[in-house]
Amino acid sequence: MYNVTLIPGDGIGPSVIDVAVKVLQATGIEFNWDRQVAGMAAVYEFGNPIPEPVIESIRKNKLVLKGPLTTPVGGGYRSVNVALRQEFQLYANLRPAVSFQGTKSPFKNIDITLIRENIEGLYAGIEHDIIIDNQKIAAESIALVTRSGSERICRFAFEYAKKHKRKKVTAVHKANILKCTTGMFLEVAQEIAREYPEIEFDDKIIDACAMQLVMAPESYDVIVTTNLFGDILSDLTSGLIGGLGLTAGANFGEDVALFEAVHGSAPDITGQNIANPIAVIKAGVMLLQHVGEKKAAKAINSCAHELVAESKYVTPDLNPKANCGTRAMGRELVSRIKNAMKK
Ligand code: NAD
Repeated sequence: MYNVTLIPGDGIGPSVIDVAVKVLQATGIEFNWDRQVAGMAAVYEFGNPIPEPVIESIRKNKLVLKGPLTTPVGGGYRSVNVALRQEFQLYANLRPAVSFQGTKSPFKNIDITLIRENIEGLYAGIEHDIIIDNQKIAAESIALVTRSGSERICRFAFEYAKKHKRKKVTAVHKANILKCTTGMFLEVAQEIAREYPEIEFDDKIIDACAMQLVMAPESYDVIVTTNLFGDILSDLTSGLIGGLGLTAGANFGEDVALFEAVHGSAPDITGQNIANPIAVIKAGVMLLQHVGEKKAAKAINSCAHELVAESKYVTPDLNPKANCGTRAMGRELVSRIKNAMKK
C-alpha cells in the first residue's frame, strides 16, 4: 500500500487525474490517495493557494501525484508549483521525451531526457518593482545560481546517465552573455563531467541548442540545464514527440518526489472531455518506477504506447477523427492494463 498525496489541480487537472488514478489502480497495486486541494480551487475554498494541510500531507507521504495548477499571469499570487518545489527543495526536474508511434510528429525515435535545475535561476522569486512617484518605472529579477546548486543538479544528471546507461550529457547554458551565472553552471558541469569519463560530455549555448533540437534531435541524449532554459526546452522536446498531452515530469528532492504532467491547466479545453490523459498517466508510470513497481510501470507504458500507435481510442489532439474523449480513452486503457497484468 502506497500513501500518496493526490492534488487534482485546476482546469483539465481533475479530469486527467481521475483517469490516471483509475489506470494506476488497474494494476492491482493498492494506493491510499490523500486528496488535497491546492491552486485556484484552494483560493476559492480557503483563500490560500497552498493551505497548510497540503504541506503536512506531502511532508508525511513524501510521494505526490499532482495535476496542473493555474498561475495568473502578471499580478496575483506567486506560482504554487514554484512554491512547492522550493518548500520541499525539489531541486531536480526530470522530463523525458520519448517518441510514440502514431502521432503527427515528423520526428521518430526521439529519446531525450531533460534535467532541469528546479529551484534557482530566474525562478528563485527574487524580484521587485522600482516605483518612483507612485509609478512603476522599472522592475528587477535576479537569477540566483549557486555553486552547490549547480553541483547537485549536474551530479544528478551524470548519476541518472550512469544508472540508465545513457551515452552523453550535454550542458546547456548562455555562458557567452550570462557569464557569472550560467558561466559558473558550465564550469561546474565541466568539473563534474571529469568524474564520469565513461560518459561523453559536451555543452551547447541555449539558442544553438534550440535550433539543433529541431534540426538534429538525434544528437541529444541527456540535457542538463538551468531553470528557465529547462522549462522552455522541455516544451520544445514535448513538441518533438507530438505535444504536451504526452510528456510527464518528476520533481525530486532529498526525500520528497512529486510527479506531474509537463502541461498546464489548459483553460482553452477545460470541461470538454478532450484533454489527453497520457501525460499524467506517464507521471504515474514515473511514480511506479520510483517506488520499484517495475512490472506495473512497464504494463501501463506499453499499453499507453500501443493505444496511441493504434490512433483509435485517442483524444482529438492525437486524432480528431477518432471521436474519442478523455474518459473513453481512460476506460480502454484500464481494460488493457488489467489484461496485461494477468500475463
Ligand atoms: P498549457 O500547457 O495549459 O496549454 C498549452 C496548450 O496545450 C493549450 O492549447 C492546451 O489546450 C494544450 N494542452 C495542454 N495539455 C493538454 C492535454 N493534456 N491534452 C490536450 N491538449 C493539451 O499552457 P498555458 O495555457 O500556457 O498555461 C495554462 C495555465 O497552466 C497557466 O496558469 C500556467 O501557469 C499553468 N501551468 C501549470 C503547470 C503545472 O502545474 N506544472 C505547467 C505549465 C503551466
